[in-house]
Amino acid sequence: MSKRSLEGKVGLIFGVANKNSIAWGIAKAWHQAGAKLIFSYQNERLKGNVQDLANELDSQSHLFPCDVSSDGQIKDFFIQVQKNADQVDLLLHSLAYAPRESLANRFVETSREAFNVAHEISTYSLIALTREALPLMKKGGSVVTLSFYGSQKVIPHYNVMGVSKAALEASVRYLASDLGSQGIRVNAISAGAMNTLAARGISDFTEMLKYAAKHSPLKRNVEMQEIGETGLFLAMDGASGITGQVLYVDCGQSVIGMRSYDDELV
Ligand code: NAD
Repeated sequence: MSKRSLEGKVGLIFGVANKNSIAWGIAKAWHQAGAKLIFSYQNERLKGNVQDLANELDSQSHLFPCDVSSDGQIKDFFIQVQKNADQVDLLLHSLAYAPRESLANRFVETSREAFNVAHEISTYSLIALTREALPLMKKGGSVVTLSFYGSQKVIPHYNVMGVSKAALEASVRYLASDLGSQGIRVNAISAGAMNTLAARGISDFTEMLKYAAKHSPLKRNVEMQEIGETGLFLAMDGASGITGQVLYVDCGQSVIGMRSYDDELV
């Protein structure tokens, strides 16, 4: 990949909470490729973290608040973006949330509220943020979101998040169809399990990590740099023919139905 393949591009980053965030892995890759980045942070509690990380890349980095449950904050974020950039080329949507009990109890116990919150934060936000970015994506663009295999198959405790990821992947396809004529591509990376703040909200997540390492063809968990490089690829002109897709970066785990009749399934 060319070292400065994103030179002159402006990217919006949603979803950095700390240095383990997938958004941070992709932001670093975009920055190294020459993109100028504008960060969002969910709330005042996370602002300091995001500020410190953004400054590591560029001491002039801009960051603005954006809790995606608020239409007002989404609008205000884009007003700030408009003041600081003539155009936007890239949008990274790497955020999700579901109430903790819905990721611990049986799926059948999912409450109306947990269902709505999970879908609003994790799925609707992709549509809302992409819509606001449209007027700024004057020369086309690339939107990248993050999904997980729990959208396709049942993964213990992933529950309502799996349902909202299924809706997210469908949204990727509909957005790709709507926006293709404007030269805007929309894709998802389906990442293998990674030890992040959000992931630790899923009951028995460490077992999920162990299971993934044991059962994936590559016999390990996926690394942040691998997600970052894929995020970079999807942002680059080299991926100009790819839209509406879900790209698996999971050490191959999703292709395995059963590894062996001897394996004890945990
Ligand atoms: P993370 O905790 O580092 O990031 C989640 C982000 O969501 C945080 O920055 C948080 O501030 C943000 N967020 C939550 N509610 C928000 C709101 N109301 N408004 C604005 N931001 C909000 O965890 P992560 O694992 O890096 O998660 C990023 C994405 O990757 C999520 O979509 C997640 O589902 C997906 N993903 C994670 C894994 C994994 O195993 N960690 C695997 C596949 C996909």
